[in-house]
Amino acid sequence: MTAIAETTRTKHPDVRNYIGGTFVDGNGSQYIDVTNPADGSVISRVPMSAASEVDRATQAAKKALPGWSAMPLKERVQVFFRYKTLLEENIDELAALVTEENGKIDGEARAEVLKSAELTEFACSLPQIMPGEVLEVSRGVECRVERYPVGVVASITPFNFPNMVPNWTIPNALAVGNCMILKPSEMVPISAGRIAELLRDAGLPEGVFNVVHGGQATVEAICDHPDIEGITFVGSTRVAKIVYRRGTANLKRVLALGGAKNHLIVMPDAEPDMTSSNVVASMAGCAGQRCMAASVMMAVGKTDHIVERMVGIVRGMVPGKHIGPVISREAKQRIETYITEAEKAGAKVLVDGRNFVVPGRENGYYIGPTLIDFVTPDMRIAQEEVFGPVMTIIRAKDVEEAVRVQQRSKYGNAASVFTESGGVARYVMEKASAGMVGVNVGVPVPREPFGFGGWNESKFGVGDITGHGSIEFWTKSKKMTTKWNKEAGVNWMS
Ligand code: NAD
Repeated sequence: MTAIAETTRTKHPDVRNYIGGTFVDGNGSQYIDVTNPADGSVISRVPMSAASEVDRATQAAKKALPGWSAMPLKERVQVFFRYKTLLEENIDELAALVTEENGKIDGEARAEVLKSAELTEFACSLPQIMPGEVLEVSRGVECRVERYPVGVVASITPFNFPNMVPNWTIPNALAVGNCMILKPSEMVPISAGRIAELLRDAGLPEGVFNVVHGGQATVEAICDHPDIEGITFVGSTRVAKIVYRRGTANLKRVLALGGAKNHLIVMPDAEPDMTSSNVVASMAGCAGQRCMAASVMMAVGKTDHIVERMVGIVRGMVPGKHIGPVISREAKQRIETYITEAEKAGAKVLVDGRNFVVPGRENGYYIGPTLIDFVTPDMRIAQEEVFGPVMTIIRAKDVEEAVRVQQRSKYGNAASVFTESGGVARYVMEKASAGMVGVNVGVPVPREPFGFGGWNESKFGVGDITGHGSIEFWTKSKKMTTKWNKEAGVNWMS
């Protein structure tokens, strides 16, 4: 950490908080470096904001809340029509920023920004589809449900999608009338500032959206602040538990998404080319740093021909061109340790991405895509989240055994099966212990309007973070009962 007074000579100026419609410095906060994972260079510094900054942002949000929440939904979403257009118009620059601070390659960064636009599109449609209900429950007596914003809310996000994960929460939470404080990952804080600028340019009133940068102390201040009513968290399971426990202990509603260990079950009848390319894309895309990335392949019966194709595809991938670096030197070391340990425990490394160096980017945190066969379910690599471009292959004799291994995982984000058999597909869909399942889909992310959310230790709290499920989370329902007939008789509804 460095003191605030130090002059910076980084490519980007020091990252600033965004409070009440204005960019402000960290107000005496300590700063840490932001690095480009592709070459290890320091590109900026980010303030580790104290509780006082969380309070300033909360006060700004509280001030904006009455005006913003009183606007009709249809008026509020006009901001998001413009925001969506701005995301699309600025995609080159937004994607370049994602690549610079996160490391993912250009195509992946563009896909991330396009997904942000799709998420915003859903918020724009809320005036047409927002769930409500009206029923005549007795003669002349009507019950209806209307939805109201929760109030001032916070969204805490991880490093792996600097643009998209903030946009899982921003458009929906704000469209339904909340005011928000975003706490982005300190490893990728620059995109958040551009998001704030685009929202401002789209016409969002000041104070409705605020950004406070920082780490553990900042998050703890969010969990403890009496005027923050709801929190979403996306990140590791370890921290998801901390945030869920602390936030709910302070009587807030909390939805906390955690880590993952996703299993793909490959049957002998699976279409070989489609399966091998999808499985590899799932494990290697975004350098394996996706909570929906395939991590374990359950190879059922005679599937050597598919594994061989995967080896061919993976050998053809060029780090630096087809696959970006992982986020940090520590992450690279951690992932390589998992591979080494598995090898020592008797697994066979088919393609080895350790010690990979991209010429000209010797200080980058690259790992080549790695395939490890004959892993057993008791190995550490088969159980823990690796979060890198590594596929462990576990052999199973039948689909029942494959599903049993999946079910024993403490996580439960995604699971998929590759098969041509409807019966096998249905069996896996029903039995997998995961919130998002796929058939012949490597990354079974539900598209809007379906909600995103896992099971078990991949999610704590009720609801999903996107789609219809998120509207339940971001609103309070009010139940209204009215009677306008002139009957004088008394009944239980009078
Ligand atoms: P992380 O848990 O380290 O950090 C997430 C956020 O928590 C950051 O904003 C960070 O500043 C904050 N934080 C870190 N330590 C903290 C502490 N001790 N107390 C309070 N706050 C703290 O996660 P990460 O490394 O940024 O992201 C990778 C993880 O996120 C992986 O486990 C991945 O599976 C998970 N993830 C899950 C989903 C999902 O939908 N389930 C989506 C994306 C990422």
